[in-house]
Amino acid sequence: MKRRTLALLTGLLVPSALLTAQQQPKPEDYPQHSMDRPQPALVTPGAKVGDAPSDAIILFDGKNLDAWSTDSGKKAPWLLKDGYMEVAPGTGSIQTKQAFGDCQLHVEWSSPVPATGEGQERGNSGVYLMNQYEVQVLDSYDNKTYPDGQAGSMFGQYPPLVNPARKPGEWESYDIIFHAPRFDASGKVTSPARVTVLFNGILVQDDVALTGPTAYQRRPPYKQGADKLPLALQDHEMRVRYRNIWIRNLPAANHP
Ligand code: MG
Repeated sequence: MKRRTLALLTGLLVPSALLTAQQQPKPEDYPQHSMDRPQPALVTPGAKVGDAPSDAIILFDGKNLDAWSTDSGKKAPWLLKDGYMEVAPGTGSIQTKQAFGDCQLHVEWSSPVPATGEGQERGNSGVYLMNQYEVQVLDSYDNKTYPDGQAGSMFGQYPPLVNPARKPGEWESYDIIFHAPRFDASGKVTSPARVTVLFNGILVQDDVALTGPTAYQRRPPYKQGADKLPLALQDHEMRVRYRNIWIRNLPAANHP
């Protein structure tokens, strides 16, 4: 059944106030300026840009690593200090205990000081959406590497549109909008994963369609899996720091 038909039918059966406003009907689903259209849910924004809004799930507020574990479910072994967490090199990537699909994600990170190494060996980490799709974290301040491996790249697929990296040690931010891939009953991709990234408030990925999961020196195809999977932060054996991580689930209904 088409969403429009469903919305019309649902509108007949359920008082409009009970419909979730997030299900964002199309313009043609209601007469223009209709008061029957569901009112958007109230959300209290953070006190300043980058702060978590009232409907966000807080993944890291600088106090503990309770939302995180190792990939085998053990306590996250990264360093917790002064409101940030830091990669403990060699201990492995960490992931959220909760699984996510379509989402809005805010992450802040900073590169090690002093900067050491070159190219991919300088401040490398990563934000892995659904544990599979990497938004690259790298010290990209005065550090040449392949464009599809810079900070803000979808690693191995899309370079960032521009390079707005700050100096190592300064806090950088990612605001990410992610839509998970969709599959039909036979496992064929009907809609690829899509990502938008703002890096320090600047658009670097504009709704790009991913070719499949992230990999090094290859681009493997999609494999159908769970609709939701943990979010992961990469241990690339460099002391990258993270703070202020929050996420909002987005309604699947907004996906084409
Ligand atoms: Mg990385």
